[in-house]
Amino acid sequence: MSVAADFEALYGASPDGVWAAPGRVNLIGEYTDFNDGFVLPLALPHTTVAAVSRRDDNVLRLHSADIDGGIVQLAADALEPLSGGGWAAYPAGVVWALREAGHPVTGADVHLTSTVPTGAGLSSSAALEVVTALALNELFGLGLTRPELARIAQRAENDFVGVPCGVMDQMASACAEEGHALHLDTRDLSYRQVPFDLAAEGLRLLVVDTRVKHALGDGAYAERRAGCEAGARALGVKALRDVSAVHLPETLARLGDETVLRYVRHVVTDNARVERTIALLDAGDTRAVGPVLTEGHASLRDDLRVSCPELDLVVETANAAGALGARMTGGGFGGSAVVLVDTDRADAVAAAVGKAFAETGYAAPGVFPAVPSAGARRV
Ligand code: ADP
Ligand code: MG
Repeated sequence: MSVAADFEALYGASPDGVWAAPGRVNLIGEYTDFNDGFVLPLALPHTTVAAVSRRDDNVLRLHSADIDGGIVQLAADALEPLSGGGWAAYPAGVVWALREAGHPVTGADVHLTSTVPTGAGLSSSAALEVVTALALNELFGLGLTRPELARIAQRAENDFVGVPCGVMDQMASACAEEGHALHLDTRDLSYRQVPFDLAAEGLRLLVVDTRVKHALGDGAYAERRAGCEAGARALGVKALRDVSAVHLPETLARLGDETVLRYVRHVVTDNARVERTIALLDAGDTRAVGPVLTEGHASLRDDLRVSCPELDLVVETANAAGALGARMTGGGFGGSAVVLVDTDRADAVAAAVGKAFAETGYAAPGVFPAVPSAGARRV
């Protein structure tokens, strides 16, 4: 059944509209988004689709086809941050953040379903937030821009759900365009659509979902973030974005703490790798992006130390099997990797990774091509 038909079966009336927002993969620029840096994500064909009707009685009803359990009913005018609520905290947080920003959102009925894998580092959470924000923006005539909606979605995740994420995921889901990667400056949210037509160049970007999520990752993000902030303070800059990659060894020599030094080196070099990648894409040399990805992986593994054996195995095996390059993507400690590969080598590379996982005793990874797709929209 369609999402609209399911909505009607659930709530007894057809929805005011149906909206979709995609998950994303980040091509390069990892852990740079809370350092005012650059990122280069692309939207996936996988989307969270929500049927939504406006209400004016402060009743907020939320239902996900993907979660066992019934309708979650909340009072739109009495939402409390960090009060739990499981999955419903994501869309409820969007209502809360809109109201906090002074927008009169007086309730809604929401029914949604998603094809974005959850917890795979492909940002099902941002897809859920952005689809909710876009629907409410239209239904309540708020007139917010895409970057403004992304900020609302980020605020929902940071302050209502309680996850200290940057703004990349929400911006990618809200602003991406088909056939492009999004060059985003996370300092001012300015962005540019960079042509990324893989098929025309005989290339494929594979997403390999390791299907693992190591508990280690839970505290690691906050610890890396604090370390980067300490590095910026020690170097006297507003954010690590302001540290030049030129003369980096001399700059790093000013840092006493070895851990902070490694974090700073990762952020500064990964920021530079985003710029190198964009220069290559603009020059039509997508193949040459491969080694930049692999270099980025080494930096995440050795300097930031957020990789894990499963992600390292994907990168090593894919490259040994003839990929152009590969890296973990997202927060690490599990989740997904991206692999850039010639189309005619893609099956062989995927098979090699599957074989290596089986031989190591890991569960089979999920593999699919990342086709650069459209951002959030009404359907
Ligand atoms: P990621 O964003 O990498 O997929 P997160 O842990 O940030 O992983 O977000 C996943 C959470 O988002 C889920 O545990 C759930 O609470 C919520 N979520 C995502 N998609 C859905 C969905 N279709 N239905 C209900 N909740 C969802
Ligand atoms: Mg998430």
